[in-house]
Amino acid sequence: MNPQSPTNRTVLHIDMNAFYCSCHAATDPQRYHARATAVAGSPETRHGVVVTASYEARARGVRATMTVAQALRACPDLVLIKPDFHLYRRFSRAVFDIVREYTPDVEVFSIDECWADVTHSPFLGSATDLARKIQQRMDQELNLPCSIGIAPNKFLAKMASDLQKPRGLTEISLTNLSEVIWPLPVKQMFGVGSKTAQRLSQIGISTIGDLAAANPDRFSLLLGKRGRQLVDLANGRDTSEVTSMQEPLKSIGHSITLANDLSRPEEMATVLLNLADQVGRRARRHRLVGKTVQITLRFANRRTITREQTLREPTALTEVLYDTAVSLLYRHLPRDARVRLLGITLGHLQAEKAPSAEMHTPAKGTSEGIQLSLFTTGSLSEDTSGQSQQDSLSGKHSHDTAMFPQKKRDLTKLLRLSQVTDALRDKYGENIVIRGRMLTQDESQQLRQHGVRGTSLQKDMLSWPENGKET
Ligand SMILES: [Mg+2]
Repeated sequence: MNPQSPTNRTVLHIDMNAFYCSCHAATDPQRYHARATAVAGSPETRHGVVVTASYEARARGVRATMTVAQALRACPDLVLIKPDFHLYRRFSRAVFDIVREYTPDVEVFSIDECWADVTHSPFLGSATDLARKIQQRMDQELNLPCSIGIAPNKFLAKMASDLQKPRGLTEISLTNLSEVIWPLPVKQMFGVGSKTAQRLSQIGISTIGDLAAANPDRFSLLLGKRGRQLVDLANGRDTSEVTSMQEPLKSIGHSITLANDLSRPEEMATVLLNLADQVGRRARRHRLVGKTVQITLRFANRRTITREQTLREPTALTEVLYDTAVSLLYRHLPRDARVRLLGITLGHLQAEKAPSAEMHTPAKGTSEGIQLSLFTTGSLSEDTSGQSQQDSLSGKHSHDTAMFPQKKRDLTKLLRLSQVTDALRDKYGENIVIRGRMLTQDESQQLRQHGVRGTSLQKDMLSWPENGKET
C-alpha cells in the first residue's frame, strides 16, 4: 500500500490519440498526416471493420467498429490502412519508455494508455508542467499526439484524460470534481459498463453526481461490494495503486459462450482459433510461455469437460496453441455433441527465455502479425514459421488440415476478423470490456462456473476497478 493518503498523490493518465492512425501518420506523414485515415481489417475486401479512425475521419462521421463499406459511405476519400501491429508495439514501447524517464511507477493499461504515479518524480515543476513536457516529447520525438489527465488518483486521472481529445491536458482535483465529472452521464464513468448503467438508470441514477449522492448501503444490496466501490469512485475516492509490476499469472485462459450451439467440429475449430489467438497474444504480451494447453467444452446439456495436453517445450505461439487445442477437440469431442462453450487455457506458465522479438517475428511478407502466416502458406504442417513449433508438441497431431480443406479461406477471414477485434480490445479495451463482464484473472474458471454468456467481442482481460491490472 502506498503510504501516502490518496489526496497526496499525483497520478497522470496518458492516453495516445487515435493511436494506430497516429503511428502511421508518424511513419509516413506524406501519405497519412492530417488526413482522414482509418486502420481497418481487410480494407481490400470492404468486409473489414474500422479499428481506429483519425480525428479528421471522425469529423467526417467515421467511427470505430463501422464496416469499411459504411465508413466509405460516410467519407468516400477515406484512406484505409492495413493494421501493422508490429509498428504499434514499437511505438507503444517508445511511449512508455518516455514516461518511465519521469517515474518508475508506470502501469501499462493497454497498448496506448498508462498511468504514471509522479508523486515522487524528481522533475522540477508542477504536475501540469510535467504532463506538458511529456506531451511535448511525444509530439517532438515520436510525432504522436496524446491526452493527459492529472489527478490525485487513477480513477480521476483516467476520467480526466478522456475529457479533452486530442491533445488535452486536464486536471481533476477533489475540489473541481463536482463541476467536472458529476454532470456526466453515468455510462461515461470508467468502470461502468452499459449493463451497470442500465441497472443504475432503473433506480433513477443517470449522472455520476447521482451516483456520488447515492446511499452506499442501498447500493451494496443492488450491486454487491461493487456498488459501494462505485459510490466511492464517483466521489473521487480511489486508493488503488499505480503498479508497475503485475502479479505473476498462473494460467491464461479465454472462453466463449456461443450464441448458438455448435455441432460441426470445423466450426468449433474456428472458435478455437480465435481463442488461441487471444491466449497467445496475452501470453506474449506478458512474456510468458506455458507448458500445458487445456480445452474446456461445455455441451448443450451444460455438462462440462476439460482436457489437457502437456507440451514438450513451453510456448506462447498461437499456432501451437491452436494445433494442440484442435487435436484435443478431435480426440475428445463425443459424437453428435452440441457445444455451447469453448475455452482454451495455457497453464504452467513461466517467463519466456528467448527474447520476445526473435520468437515472434512475423513471417516475411505479412504485416498482419504472425498468425496469418500459418494460413497463407498452405497447410498447417507445411508452414515454415510453424515448423519448429510442431516439434515442440509432445502428442502427434490427431487432426489433419484435410479435414476441413474448404474452411481454409474462412479461417483466414476469421483470423483477420479476430485480429481486428483483438486490436479493438487493445485500443478500446476498457469500453468494450465494461460492456461485457468484468472478470478477474481466473476468468476461465469463473466462466466455467457461472456460465457467463457472451460474444466473441467479450474479453476477459481486465478487472479494474475490482483490483486486477490485467490488460
Ligand atoms: Mg487512446
